Amino acid sequence: MSNNPDPVINDSWIVSNRGKKNPVNPGKPYSWLVEKERAASGKIEDTGIIFLTNRECSFHCLMCDLWKNTTDVSVTPGNIPGQIEWALNQMPDVKHLKLYNSGSFFDERAIPAEDYQRIASLVSSFDTVIVESHPRMINKKCLIFRDMLKPDLQIAIGLETVHTEILRKLNKQMTLDDFSEAVSYLTKHGIMSRAFILLKPPFLSESDGIHWAERSIDFAFRAGVECCTVIPVRSGNGAMDLLMERGDFSMPDIHSLEKVLEYGLGLNAGRVFADVWDLSLFSSCRKCIDQRTNRLISMNLSQKIISRYECSCNSL
Ligand code: SF4
Ligand SMILES: [Zn+2]
Repeated sequence: MSNNPDPVINDSWIVSNRGKKNPVNPGKPYSWLVEKERAASGKIEDTGIIFLTNRECSFHCLMCDLWKNTTDVSVTPGNIPGQIEWALNQMPDVKHLKLYNSGSFFDERAIPAEDYQRIASLVSSFDTVIVESHPRMINKKCLIFRDMLKPDLQIAIGLETVHTEILRKLNKQMTLDDFSEAVSYLTKHGIMSRAFILLKPPFLSESDGIHWAERSIDFAFRAGVECCTVIPVRSGNGAMDLLMERGDFSMPDIHSLEKVLEYGLGLNAGRVFADVWDLSLFSSCRKCIDQRTNRLISMNLSQKIISRYECSCNSL
């Protein structure tokens, strides 16, 4: 740990440590892709993800780097449906669609409510539509959007961690009760939810990182989510890099991600996924990174625990 005094983690400190945003075009999503995901039905099906370009999230969470591909001001009504239409024209036919907007779908400064109807028409052929939201943005607007939709709606909510002191330091502006109440509200109104859970946020050791990710999965399923996605925390947004230099943060190890996914799958409480984007960041062993990545992908798809890969790094 550093000898320098602890930084006061708040909006201005987090924002002041940022680098530049990437150039984005409000007429186009900043990215899209298709991935395989095990659906709630148990089938492995193609899921499209459209990364919508819109105004930066109103919150400034310590670990978040999603602001990098956002605008400073709200996009105009019509931009978001236009982006979705553009991406769907490029995309092969898929069953499920994630509309991720680097913030909260129900934040009207990000996605104008007047666009909901056109969005609903554009996505009418999908089985499921998944959007993301901060718990404080879960309200009647979710029901209004649900009523316009033909597909089932699922809402992804960042639980992050149930370690209350760390959750406060993440500057998420959310309590565990906020999360539970949001999930209960959605469940009561027939809307499924999924939780994003962080593996090893700052200020935690490797073993505590595992412990709190597992407790967070327990909490999320008890609250009523249908599925959990475990995300290993990375640096790269400025604030996290500074914490890393101070010794307050280090990226989790891929072994820990494997352990947490095994734990979650063993609960048989709902689907559990590991985020497998750029896993080489979380491994210092070049001999087994491909095998470990494939193991995690196979466990995501099968929702079964697969035997561990034997490598000399297992005993480190
Ligand atoms: S609420 Fe989500 S999108 Fe917004 S800053 Fe926090 S982690 Fe990022
Ligand atoms: Zn290895």
